[in-house]
Amino acid sequence: GVHGVRLESGPAPVPGPVALVLQDVTEARRVEEVRRDFVANVGHELKTPVGALALLAEAVQDAADDPETVQRFAARMSHEADRLARLVRELIDLSRLQGGDPLPELAPVDVDTVLHEAADRTGLAAAAKRIDLVVGGEQGLVVRGVEAQLTTAVTNLLANAVHYSPEGTRIAVAARARSGFAEIAVTDSGIGIPREDRSRVFERFYRVDQSRASSTGGTGLGLAIVKHVASNHGGSVTVWSEEGLGSTFTLRIPLAGSPGTEPAPAGAPD
Ligand code: ADP
Repeated sequence: GVHGVRLESGPAPVPGPVALVLQDVTEARRVEEVRRDFVANVGHELKTPVGALALLAEAVQDAADDPETVQRFAARMSHEADRLARLVRELIDLSRLQGGDPLPELAPVDVDTVLHEAADRTGLAAAAKRIDLVVGGEQGLVVRGVEAQLTTAVTNLLANAVHYSPEGTRIAVAARARSGFAEIAVTDSGIGIPREDRSRVFERFYRVDQSRASSTGGTGLGLAIVKHVASNHGGSVTVWSEEGLGSTFTLRIPLAGSPGTEPAPAGAPD
C-alpha cells in the first residue's frame, strides 16, 4: 500500500517557490534578449537616414557653386530628415504604449469621430494617388478608450492601405457592433500580404519586402503600434489578405458599457 505509492511517485517535484524563481529567471532572460534585439534594430534603422544626411551634406558642400544641384540635394535632405523625425516619433509612441507610461483613464470615445479624424489625416496622401477613401458603417458606436491612441491606430492602418495600394483604387473604413466590440475594418485593394508574412507583420520592424519598404519610407513600426493600442484597450487586431487582391485589417475595441472587457495591464511583454 503506502510503500508502493512512494516508490512509484518518482523524483520529488520542484517545490513551488523554486519553480517560480526558475521561471522568473527564464522570463527575465527572454525580456533582456528582446530588449537587446530592439536596441540593435533601432540602431540599424537610425543608421540609414543619418548616413544619407551626412553624405548629402557633403555633396551640398561640393556643389556649392551649382544652385540647381544644391536645391536637389537639399530637398533630399529634407526628405531624410522627415523620415528620421517619423521614426523617432513612432519609437516614442511605441515605448509609451508598451507601458512606459500608465494607460490614461479610459473614457467613452465616439467611433465616427475617430474614423473621420483618421481619414482627414490620410486624405492628402490618398488624394495624391487618386485613391477614393470612403468612411462608412454603423453610426453612433461608442467604445471605452483613449481617443488619441485609437486615432493613431486607425490612421496607421489607413496610411498603410494608401501606401500599399496602386493609384486610383478604393479604400474603405467602416465600423460595426459585434458581440460587445466595435469592429473597425480597413479594406484596401492593394498588393496584399503573402501568407508566410501575415502572422509577423505586427512585429516591430518587420516588413514584407525590406528593400521596397525602406525605399518608400516605411518604419516597420506602424502595425506594432496598432497592436499595442488594441491590447491596451482589451481588444485585438487581425488581418485578412490575399496577394494581389488586397487586405483587410480589423481592429476590435470593447464597446462602452459592455461588461467583462477589462483591458490587459499595459506593459505586458509580447
Ligand atoms: P511600414 O512602416 O513598413 O508600413 P508597418 O508595421 O505599418 O510598417 O507594416 C509592416 C509591413 O506589413 C509593411 O512593411 C508591409 O510589408 C506590410 N503591410 C502593412 N499594411 C499593409 C497593407 N495594407 N497592404 C499590404 N502590405 C501591408
